[in-house]
Amino acid sequence: MDNTLSAHIITYGCQMNKRDGEILSDLLAGAGFYLSPTPQGCDVIVVLTCAVREHAVVRALGRIKDLSRHRRDNPNLLIAVGGCVAQTEAERIQEEAPFVGLIFGTSQLHHLPQLIEKALASTQTVLSLDTETSPDYLFAPTIGNRKNTVSAFIAVMRGCNNKCSYCIVPSARGPERYRPAEEIIEEAKILADAGYQQITLIGQNVNAWREDAMDFAELLRRVAQKSGIPHLRFVTSHPKNLSDGVIKAMAEEENICPALHLPLQSGSTRVLSAMGRGYTAEEYLRLVRRLQKALPGIALTTDLLVGFPGETEDDFSRTLRMVEEAPFDSAFTFKYSPRKHTSASELSETLTEEEKVARLQSLITRVQEVGRIQNRKRLGKSFTALIEGPAKRGGSLGRLASGHPIIVPEELAVGSWVEVEVNDISAWTLRGRVPSSAPAKKATSKI
Ligand code: SF4
Repeated sequence: MDNTLSAHIITYGCQMNKRDGEILSDLLAGAGFYLSPTPQGCDVIVVLTCAVREHAVVRALGRIKDLSRHRRDNPNLLIAVGGCVAQTEAERIQEEAPFVGLIFGTSQLHHLPQLIEKALASTQTVLSLDTETSPDYLFAPTIGNRKNTVSAFIAVMRGCNNKCSYCIVPSARGPERYRPAEEIIEEAKILADAGYQQITLIGQNVNAWREDAMDFAELLRRVAQKSGIPHLRFVTSHPKNLSDGVIKAMAEEENICPALHLPLQSGSTRVLSAMGRGYTAEEYLRLVRRLQKALPGIALTTDLLVGFPGETEDDFSRTLRMVEEAPFDSAFTFKYSPRKHTSASELSETLTEEEKVARLQSLITRVQEVGRIQNRKRLGKSFTALIEGPAKRGGSLGRLASGHPIIVPEELAVGSWVEVEVNDISAWTLRGRVPSSAPAKKATSKI
């Protein structure tokens, strides 16, 4: 009798969660589970949740409740919930979805095969949440069950020591823990040797990484030099930790992409201080100018949050102005929602939902306007693109070193490099064509 258990993994949220989902697949496959592409007929369904905003929590809980219908076909089905909602709102999961058999914290991944065994044998919900002292299991450098064969994420750290007043990450993922440099470099080499063309080093606060006297700038250089990966990126950086060393490494190492995601959050120093971000709007702009001097034409993207308690019209207009002043090539834009376990949740809200939505809308419009202005500078120019896959409506989707996606009508091999000429733009995505005479090219990350 084949008693292989089948499992299906559903992952929500950021790159860290996505990488955790890949690592979880490795672990379960290594423990003899069959990884099913769908939840139907499974013995175990694992949901890795995101708690960054209230609507992300509501969406994950909605999906978990919907999954309970599979228990009609298999009453012994185990639904397991992990990720940031599990760590920060376990009671809420038990209240709203009492059929969930296992709830585990973000640092419990490595225990999962045993936790699943325990939960399958139990009639109670098994709870395994992180505590301050939870040891973090550092995963061996592998290719493993990565979904993508061209681009890969490498997690270099976990957690965050900052205490931005609106952010749930520190309580969901705990303090910063850094992965040894040798493991990170080894993984990058394994991936590059296996034909990967693009690596993104990830962490909630990636440029805070360090090991003894070695800082992130040195790690970046070593990964770039030792792996030789054509496109090397990193995300998410905190302005406080963006050192001159990192800027220098980006300018000097050929294969580090001239693109940086640098969350600003607000253009108002008064609001930045209430958020506990640790820098002023003026300091942020000076940092951007240093970046642009070292890397002319660098693509700059950011995160912007509107509607923080106490944000005035004047504060908001400073955020709008900063979009042009930087200027940003693109931005992830959010409206404030109070998060449990954050200090800002004690502040009384001063804006109605309608006012927040109105500000968010005008911010999105401004970001798109500036994105178009930035992209107009690329019109008619040629760039090297990495083909990442088929485009949704035919043709191929490529990625420039700047991070811009580009769509070309040609059907091109995934992982190939082509010279493309930009012939149309939008706020972020470009369109182009591959001049028939253009030879296939090997990437240079520099513009
Ligand atoms: S730096 Fe701030 S916003 Fe980013 S993960 Fe840490 S606490 Fe959250």
